Amino acid sequence: MSYFDFMLNDNARAVADEAREMVKNEIDPEYIKAMDRDEVKFPKKIYETYAKHNLLGVRFPKKYGGRGLNWVSSIAAQAEIGCLGTSCGCAFVMPDIVGEALFHFGTEEQKQKFLKPMLQGKLVSAEALTEPRGGSDFFGATSKAEDKGDHFLVNGQKRFVVGAEGADFFLVYVRTNFEPDSDPYQRISTLIIERSPGVEVSYLYGLMGTRGGGTGRLTFRDVQVPKENLVGPLHGGALVFHRMMVPERLCSAAPVIGGMRSVLEIAARYSDKRVAFGQTIRKFQAVNSMLAQGVTLLDASAAMVFQAALAADADHPKLRRIVSETKKFVTDANWEVANIAMQIMGGIGYTDVYPIERAVRDARLCQIWTGTNQIMDQLIQHEYYKEVLGDTNKYRDIEKDAMSADMKHEKIFDDEEMWKAHEETPKK
Ligand SMILES: Cc1cc2nc3c(=O)[nH]c(=O)nc-3n(C[C@H](O)[C@H](O)[C@H](O)COP(=O)(O)OP(=O)(O)OC[C@H]3O[C@@H](n4cnc5c(N)ncnc54)[C@H](O)[C@@H]3O)c2cc1C
Repeated sequence: MSYFDFMLNDNARAVADEAREMVKNEIDPEYIKAMDRDEVKFPKKIYETYAKHNLLGVRFPKKYGGRGLNWVSSIAAQAEIGCLGTSCGCAFVMPDIVGEALFHFGTEEQKQKFLKPMLQGKLVSAEALTEPRGGSDFFGATSKAEDKGDHFLVNGQKRFVVGAEGADFFLVYVRTNFEPDSDPYQRISTLIIERSPGVEVSYLYGLMGTRGGGTGRLTFRDVQVPKENLVGPLHGGALVFHRMMVPERLCSAAPVIGGMRSVLEIAARYSDKRVAFGQTIRKFQAVNSMLAQGVTLLDASAAMVFQAALAADADHPKLRRIVSETKKFVTDANWEVANIAMQIMGGIGYTDVYPIERAVRDARLCQIWTGTNQIMDQLIQHEYYKEVLGDTNKYRDIEKDAMSADMKHEKIFDDEEMWKAHEETPKK
């Protein structure tokens, strides 16, 4: 039974079942351990296993290698894959993220050359947004592509690119508009840059978690990129970026469900066996309350992911707020749940006898990548103000239900209004 089981239609349930069986039977634990030891630099073998089952980017049309399903089916599969950890989860969702840009903005040639082979597992992609100078300030990117007639000449650096080690091509955001006073939203373009001379990839060692996922630094030195590799309009990278941020954030949240589920199950089984003071620790209210908190967070997170998938399928106007909230809530919940699992297990949870410590290390990143949770706050409040201030007539105005609602001289918002009310208040 999939985690979302009762919420899914038959198609989505079938995809989730297939993903669950694959994860259960076909992924070698020794490979997962080798990844955490940094002996595997990119989980190519696992990526190929996903592709063998045609599970990459199931929401894209069949003619491009997908299954013609929807977001709900996609998140149902992601939630099954997530128990493998953030590196394997990321390899699974990257075609959804890069595919969003190629599918919505790419030319037919780009779809045939990059999207289709990527969904078939023949090509590996990575996305390069973050620069050493900063990730949150995306529109300040300084990596540049100069127009040289039939090609762009690309120079610059990107860092923290997951999958860089394994990628055959990169979706890269670069500055193309060099007008000093240009609008930051009209400065950036999106390019497909194939692994080629001039594209240097250096593997980034020393990550706290998410190891073996191929996270690296990219350096571009006089890389010649053909004009036909421009994705979307010239200087129109903002359009592509905003579209890509939906899968980026939804796919940061959905796999986490599988991670949360599996650590809670380990902690629950442990607490059912472990004895202290003559009884199993699950009998202690302090322990079972922690578990209850964890399970509640897991179910709330699953509901949010499902809601966000429905909003994405409907391309709902509140989608941007909903995916940002989902990314923030679910990744914060994941951090709490991983720590709850560790706490329930006591000292042994802190060792590598159980995979809880790895889950804690992985969980921490989820609050940082794909836009930090502070950036999610910025988006959420921005979208909410826009909604609320833009439509004041939709619901009953309960301000009028207050006993003294008509005391206008008490509804003062600034100095000017205060003095105006002062003048207008009748003298006694
Ligand atoms: C293992 C790993 C994998 C990653 N994978 C990828 C990848 O595949 N592709 C990619 O492009 N990037 C990737 N990233 C980069 C990641 O998305 C960035 O690290 C993240 O967006 C934050 O950028 P930064 O590290 O430059 O921090 P900064 O932008 O310097 O932020 C530092 C702090 O300031 C806060 N801050 C900044 N601006 C604001 C603001 N306006 N309001 C409130 N707070 C603010 C941030 O929340 C944060 O706490 C990855 C990172 C890691 C560690």
